[in-house]
Amino acid sequence: MSDAGPAVIFDAHTHLDAMAQRAGLEATDAFVADVMGAARAEGVVAAITVGDTVASARWCVAAAGAHPDVYAAVAVHPTEIDGLDDAGYAELERLAADPKVVAIGETGLDYYWDRTEPAAQQEHFRRHIDLAKRTGLPLMVHDRDAHADVLRILREEGAPEQVVFHAFSGDVAMARECVAAGYVLSFPGVITFKNAPTLRAAAAAVPAEHVLVETDAPFLTPHPHRGRPNAPRLLPLTLRGLAAAMGREPDEVAAAIRETGARVFGLRIG
Ligand SMILES: [Zn+2]
Repeated sequence: MSDAGPAVIFDAHTHLDAMAQRAGLEATDAFVADVMGAARAEGVVAAITVGDTVASARWCVAAAGAHPDVYAAVAVHPTEIDGLDDAGYAELERLAADPKVVAIGETGLDYYWDRTEPAAQQEHFRRHIDLAKRTGLPLMVHDRDAHADVLRILREEGAPEQVVFHAFSGDVAMARECVAAGYVLSFPGVITFKNAPTLRAAAAAVPAEHVLVETDAPFLTPHPHRGRPNAPRLLPLTLRGLAAAMGREPDEVAAAIRETGARVFGLRIG
């Protein structure tokens, strides 16, 4: 932490609508303004709110339109793909044209929850990769217990120019493979957990220009708030955990993150 105040960063992946829902509140403009105001006081001056259904994507784009410090990502989460049809993709593509939409996400594979067939997930992941390429937007990948298939499908399809692994959960070997492919790894609060030495070792193997930090709020709350809902204002704990794992100063990592935000998402902060 510098004398100038908290390091200026942005939250690369959050769910403002799910935060409200989890708190039993309506996801109003006032709710978003409160969340972002509390975040700004901690140096978290912008956030990408991520859709996981078509309806959620619609909400994210509206929230981004109403708040200068909120950006949106649009996609359907691999566990929510049932019923996603051509009309759904057409709406995602229409939403993606909004100037505040900075990524196609979150999309990918989730073999942890037994809710949708892997074959169907893979087909929809391929369609989202195509959407990212056609719109020229970065791809924001969800990969839960599916590392090999996610990497294989990206290779088979040909990855979009910018790929971000949200809530990266791989080991050193996978981190190296991602960096070699030019992918960016976004680290969540898990990096602060006592039982996450593998993730810290992975972070130590990643050059600073390939890292981002995220909350995935209301999930993945960093230590010592684990067990309570996450929020963008808690992101500095994850920045410090990541910097410690990398053997760098938080300010130094924050500066690299701001540059990566500009390069990948076109975000100009700080
Ligand atoms: Zn998420």
